[in-house]
Amino acid sequence: EAKDTQSEHPVTYREGLLKRSASRRFLDREIAGAIGRGEFQLQYQVQTSLRDGAIVGREALIRWHHPVLGTLYPGEFISLAEANGSIIELGRWVLAQACSDAAGWPDRTRVAVNISALQLRDADFASTVAEALRSSGLDPQRLELEITETTLIRQRTEVVDVFARLQALGVKIALDDFGTGFSSLDTLLAFAFDRIKIDRSVLHASLQPSRTRSVLRAILALGHALTTTVLVEGVETQNQLELLRGEGFDEIQGFFAGRPVPNAT
Ligand code: C2E
Ligand code: MG
Ligand code: MG
Ligand code: MG
Repeated sequence: EAKDTQSEHPVTYREGLLKRSASRRFLDREIAGAIGRGEFQLQYQVQTSLRDGAIVGREALIRWHHPVLGTLYPGEFISLAEANGSIIELGRWVLAQACSDAAGWPDRTRVAVNISALQLRDADFASTVAEALRSSGLDPQRLELEITETTLIRQRTEVVDVFARLQALGVKIALDDFGTGFSSLDTLLAFAFDRIKIDRSVLHASLQPSRTRSVLRAILALGHALTTTVLVEGVETQNQLELLRGEGFDEIQGFFAGRPVPNAT
């Protein structure tokens, strides 16, 4: 059954509100101030190994606890933050917060942070990452940046450069949402990803089970041929988990292993 992110969140009332451009402009002006007022929060969703079920990392997912509208999900405000440029400041806050949260995790697993195209295009991006690592004291090997393919297609030459700087710091890079958009071989070959994250739409596609399995198997073979770890997103059931384990996938993330939750401690 195909589901989108929106349907996972009880936002029907607000969605109607947000479709009106006046509300969008209103929110848009509030983003920068809301950072200072502490209205943003990172929640963490576990990523687990299919070998032994151990937690290997957690993805930071942003929420905005708006004083009037209630909790807003990234699908409702990230594109606004990108359109008005406040994503640079918001992204800096996310990186600093995620690194400082992760520095306190007793299990010393990695933290994955979503990076938008505009951040990657920012000349100061590598220094922003270095600063978040320095001030938190987090081991750079424990930080993973999640980047989508669309970001990479638009600005390939600049990105190759930024990746080199980030990888020199020791930071890991994951290709997010693979299987949506172009999913081109070109992208996989042009960058040395540490991980490929298969979008949940692949797992949830309304294909015959045998066809879904074939697609998954082909992507896994491709990832492993490139010596990249392959994670599947959106795992919601024990059956899906067992199918993926049987196929030899490395890691999973999804509601079955755990929903996003506020940072422990
Ligand atoms: P994503 O990076 O692909 O994150 C996974 C999304 O799938 C999250 O939605 C998560 O709550 C949801 N999800 C996880 N497991 C399941 C499952 O088993 N079933 C279903 N149906 N959904 C599942 P969320 O938190 O609403 O985030 C949506 C997108 O917003 C993220 O997609 C990411 O692209 C973006 N995003 C989130 N946080 C940030 C951030 O700090 N900065 C930026 N630039 N983008 C962010
Ligand atoms: Mg992600
Ligand atoms: Mg994803
Ligand atoms: Mg996504």
